[in-house]
Amino acid sequence: MLVDPWWKAEACAADVLKQQNITKLPIDPFQIADAKQIMHQENSSLDAGVSGCLMRVGDHFGIMYSTRFQNNGFRRFTVGHELGHYFLEGHPEYLFKDGCTVHTSTTGFLSDDRYEQEADAFAASLLMPKPLFREAAANAGNGLNAVIAMATLCEMSLTSTAIRYARLIAEPVAVVLSMNRKVLFSIMSPTLRAQRNLSWLKKGAGVPPSTLTFQFAGDSTNIQNAQTASGYTTLDDWFDGPDTEISEEVIGLGEYGRTLTVLRAESLPDPETVMERSDGRMDDDAESLLPSQRFFQKSRY
Ligand SMILES: [Zn+2]
Repeated sequence: MLVDPWWKAEACAADVLKQQNITKLPIDPFQIADAKQIMHQENSSLDAGVSGCLMRVGDHFGIMYSTRFQNNGFRRFTVGHELGHYFLEGHPEYLFKDGCTVHTSTTGFLSDDRYEQEADAFAASLLMPKPLFREAAANAGNGLNAVIAMATLCEMSLTSTAIRYARLIAEPVAVVLSMNRKVLFSIMSPTLRAQRNLSWLKKGAGVPPSTLTFQFAGDSTNIQNAQTASGYTTLDDWFDGPDTEISEEVIGLGEYGRTLTVLRAESLPDPETVMERSDGRMDDDAESLLPSQRFFQKSRY
């Protein structure tokens, strides 16, 4: 049986926050490392594809993170990821078996590795804890504005915040990350996912030509200069669903050429109620699309 990496990670991260009596945003991963006597420092000589690493010598642990990316949210996420390898059950034993002393984490990929997925889910759960995030998001506006406000509050990247937002928000929302008009991943909120008549936007699928995102991505300066655009589209345009109007907001993510799209429906035809699963099993492909979340950009997001 496949186990949802979020289920284990959410529980473990909540436990760490409780033990350290941390109850306010933003969460400081460096403080959490300090409390466990885990050394942490920047390193300018890590390889280009490496975001950070966790080292173990005997019972002592240390985290290094790359200085290559001047993005606070990216650094914080990297430290959160390495803390995941420290705190999650079975990780130290697996990563440091056979005398291995260093685990390196790479950047910019959609990892299929269970340990990497769990560490990513831990980082998101630790730095954007479910109850605190939901409480703040309820007063953060809607759509892209809410994502930007939450990214600022949590000191996280826009991309990792958007993923968390779509997972935790009650509204019918979808978040799509694309590059060169191809989908890198998409996440639907539970309410939208409950609409069983929608087709999932798979990794590698083309951004629909009729959409604002497609048009926006045609001009690379929009992306490089972190421009935004907004308009209306339909569920049909994006998901082969009903002809329901939805808002479409797009923002360019800087030099890596990625575009973030937030889709939001005011209302849905024939809504269904979904209960959050508690058994840890995957409910569909959505969870297997968990990104490594190391989609970073030079701008502050
Ligand atoms: Zn890792």
